[in-house]
Amino acid sequence: MTSRTVDEQLGATVFFKCENLQRTGAFKFRGAFNAISALSAAQRARGVAAFSSGNHAQAMALAARLLGTKAVIVMPRDAPAMKVAATRGYGAEIVQYDRYTEDREAIGRKLASDRGLALVPPFDHCDVIAGQGTAALELLEEAGPLDVIVTPVGGGGLLSGTCLVAAATAPGCVLYGVEPAAGDDARQSLQRGKIVSIPAPHSIADGAVTTHIGELCFPLLRRHVREIVTAPDEALRRTMRFVAERMKVVVEPTGCLPLAALLAGAIPVRGKRVGVVFSGGNADLGLLAG
Ligand SMILES: *Cc1c(COP(=O)(O)O)cnc(C)c1O
Repeated sequence: MTSRTVDEQLGATVFFKCENLQRTGAFKFRGAFNAISALSAAQRARGVAAFSSGNHAQAMALAARLLGTKAVIVMPRDAPAMKVAATRGYGAEIVQYDRYTEDREAIGRKLASDRGLALVPPFDHCDVIAGQGTAALELLEEAGPLDVIVTPVGGGGLLSGTCLVAAATAPGCVLYGVEPAAGDDARQSLQRGKIVSIPAPHSIADGAVTTHIGELCFPLLRRHVREIVTAPDEALRRTMRFVAERMKVVVEPTGCLPLAALLAGAIPVRGKRVGVVFSGGNADLGLLAG
């Protein structure tokens, strides 16, 4: 998608990759599908597992169904009913846990080893990263040469895949990541030259409230990303409304991170051709009110 209003405000030519319109409503489907596709037939016969309350859960559930395997998803007991229903609707088995007293990683790992399931993490995994990269690959193929690409950053899978694609097909393209102001662990990690862990941040960008970026992601970001910038929740709310009103699409707060940073002038793009990944559209529409 393009927007004359955005182009005028930024003095740039911006191309939006609409992963809000992707199956399950987010780019996470790409990594999940690629990772499950890469498993052996024997492993696919046993099934896959994931722990997530967000877009990775639905992505794994649908990808598993399409690839003829079974997914078991570990979700907190208090996860939004809509998300649990969507994940179950794609045919996954849900295992619930108490997020205040139990450790989901331990539960996921035990479940995987007890039942022989392949655990697919949401970002720190080669096949997941490669899958996420196809969003930028398609963006470059459709939009033509880009000077800049901006994506959100949670655990860093989407931006890492973007790094691989840009390095291979568009080496001159400058990459930026945007994370919530309340949780700038990726920015701190690049500044300090090591993975920095922070307490679980509170932000409406629920797809990017990770406490640290992935071990596989860090060296890729360090090598290929120009800068990580941040956007506060208030800017995400404004941007989500702006995108709904002007572009007529629903983009969830996490997916609004790049445009919010651009509109705030945090990334120099005047006169440039810019790619922006709208990473997902699974928003609570109450955010558009008031
Ligand atoms: C997961 C997610 C992100 C962050 O992706 P990472 O690979 O964890 O950096 C951004 N936007 C949406 C909509 C997501 O679901």
